[in-house]
Amino acid sequence: MSPVSATYWGLPGYIIFWALFAIAFGVFLRRFYFLYRLLRLGKSERRFDRIGQRAIFMLSVVSSQWCALKTVGLTDLAGLGHALMFWGFGFFLIGYVIIFGVDGGLGLSLPPAFEALYRSILDIAALLVIAAVIVAVIKRYIVKPKRLEREESRKEKVIMALLFTTMIVLMALHYGTEGLKYSAYNLSPSPIIGGLLANSLTSAGMSPATLSATYTAFWWINYVMLLGALVYAPHSEHLHPLFSPANIFFRPLGPKAALEPVPAEETENFGVSKLQDFTWKQLLDLYSCTWCGRCHAACPAQLSGKSLSPREIILNLKEHLLEEGPGLLNGKAEPSSNMIGDVVTEDAIWACTTCGACIEACAVKVEHVRRIMDLRRNLVLTQNKMPETAQLMLRNMQSRGHPWAGIQSLRLRGDWTDGLDVKVLADGDTADTLFWVGCTGALVERNVKATISMTRVLKTAGVDFAVLGEAETCCGDPARRAGYEFQFQMMAEQNIETFKSHNIKEIVTSCPHCYNTLKNEYPQYGGDFNVVHYTQFIGKLIAQGKLKLANGLNSRVTYHDPCYLGRYNGVYQEPRQILQSIPQTNLVEMARTRNKAFCCGGGGGHMWIEEQSGTTKINQMRLDDALKTGAEQVVTACPYCLQMFEEGIEHKGIKGALKVQDLAEIVEAAMQPSESKGAA
Ligand code: SF4
Ligand code: SF4
Repeated sequence: MSPVSATYWGLPGYIIFWALFAIAFGVFLRRFYFLYRLLRLGKSERRFDRIGQRAIFMLSVVSSQWCALKTVGLTDLAGLGHALMFWGFGFFLIGYVIIFGVDGGLGLSLPPAFEALYRSILDIAALLVIAAVIVAVIKRYIVKPKRLEREESRKEKVIMALLFTTMIVLMALHYGTEGLKYSAYNLSPSPIIGGLLANSLTSAGMSPATLSATYTAFWWINYVMLLGALVYAPHSEHLHPLFSPANIFFRPLGPKAALEPVPAEETENFGVSKLQDFTWKQLLDLYSCTWCGRCHAACPAQLSGKSLSPREIILNLKEHLLEEGPGLLNGKAEPSSNMIGDVVTEDAIWACTTCGACIEACAVKVEHVRRIMDLRRNLVLTQNKMPETAQLMLRNMQSRGHPWAGIQSLRLRGDWTDGLDVKVLADGDTADTLFWVGCTGALVERNVKATISMTRVLKTAGVDFAVLGEAETCCGDPARRAGYEFQFQMMAEQNIETFKSHNIKEIVTSCPHCYNTLKNEYPQYGGDFNVVHYTQFIGKLIAQGKLKLANGLNSRVTYHDPCYLGRYNGVYQEPRQILQSIPQTNLVEMARTRNKAFCCGGGGGHMWIEEQSGTTKINQMRLDDALKTGAEQVVTACPYCLQMFEEGIEHKGIKGALKVQDLAEIVEAAMQPSESKGAA
């Protein structure tokens, strides 16, 4: 039996101990149940599949703190700070169960050697927690990186102050209690720091009775503080310690950029306009946010001065849920404020390029894009509201089968094939491999050049392929990302029908947006085809020896990762391998590269939706990234990115300084001269 239990407690002590615990735990559970009921306001969503895979991922991510550590760098030590705090507190949680539960509450003495060992571990863990709190305070209030620049409300300031103070006090209580215990009862062996403190207290001349009484007081204060923290945790707005592991567990396992079709039961109110329109998982996201601001600091709309901040959307929605939720649970039909307008502005909803940088940056797997798209869907389908430029784009899609207006509309979709001797599928023809060109590649002058290069590359490698020519229509991505789901659905069904009628097995496409749509979203409508991006296809042709890239590039180049190819579909290696297989290529990376690549500004329908005024344009920012590398050429593998870079270069007036090329053009130029000439 521990010294505290034996000397001071007796039966009343046990009763007080367990009564306090029962009250605190009861209050905790009551609030927790309330938060659970708030989640139940949301619609159902299937996230209970592949439980084992989910559990392993969650446990490994949470215990290793990998997602938080990803941001560790010389300029941002917050990831390390969070990891130290988590690991330190993890040891303490076990320690509290042992010290207060087993030892104190049950009165079971621990073997002295074990106790000294575990307390020594806690001594180190406490140092880690104190160091982490200091780092957090310095980062949050002194260094203030972009992601933490935020006007905190009074309530938030109190929460943060309470959090940091509680941690420091708990650690101080740990050392104090330990020193007093080992000194009062002259216990041996002793823990590292506890032993040193005990020696100091003993040499200070305090009597054993005073030491023992002070120790008991410290012990109870520590216990009551812990119970206070237990009660406070679900009542605070800082709910992430309780809910983020669950959010990681229920993360989406399917393709990252696939949007869900409009559910069959939605017939009048589409998308999301009120809390009950979200699914329970979308509401769980709100509890899980840590306020870290990584999404905010990665968002191109935010960084270019637009009103959108993915962090603010999540935090504002959480506040809205906690404010309005009780009324809704008590039967109130409608919240007192409008979600679209009062909580999330229309400007913010339209500013998103769906680049996915926010999702990639979020350590707790919050799904921002789907939420923004659901809000956009509601604006378009239910409220009939969209920017004029988006309306024009949709009208074009309906009348011409592609989103382009103006000069492009004068071209016919199959014109680019003139003189190229390409097999264009007619009714009844079949083909194993289809080259899906995409609207921009077929209609926009600059992109047509890249399409022709790709055709020559395929022919040089002896690939038996065909194109749809006039029968190709838009894949539907611009309509879907602009919120007009029904237009997308029509086009998807029509294209799937076309693919099936030609018995298509494999589709090669130049456009990452078409690639993502055909590969990840057409299966929702019964279109299961083998879809590859052309960089993957060319990579394979090179590996098989069907393409030889012998002409030196003799240039310093940088590669821009298109969001829908890299971040959403994980194609990072192939484009780089192709570039590196070309002689005399000096490939340099931009500072923001691969999964952290900065958007060109063209996704989410923004090729056609006018960019809101901000402090700068997104494509200008990306152009600056490329210029900083000192490259002579920026290479990409997406027609939108090519366009956005061309526009940026034009706008900046630096045509001579930087050239933008599609990777297909680079490959064509690098093919052996004899092959290249014979191809077209
Ligand atoms: S998808 Fe991109 S633009 Fe949209 S909120 Fe996320 S980071 Fe910002
Ligand atoms: S949503 Fe994720 S990345 Fe953004 S502030 Fe919250 S926890 Fe951080």
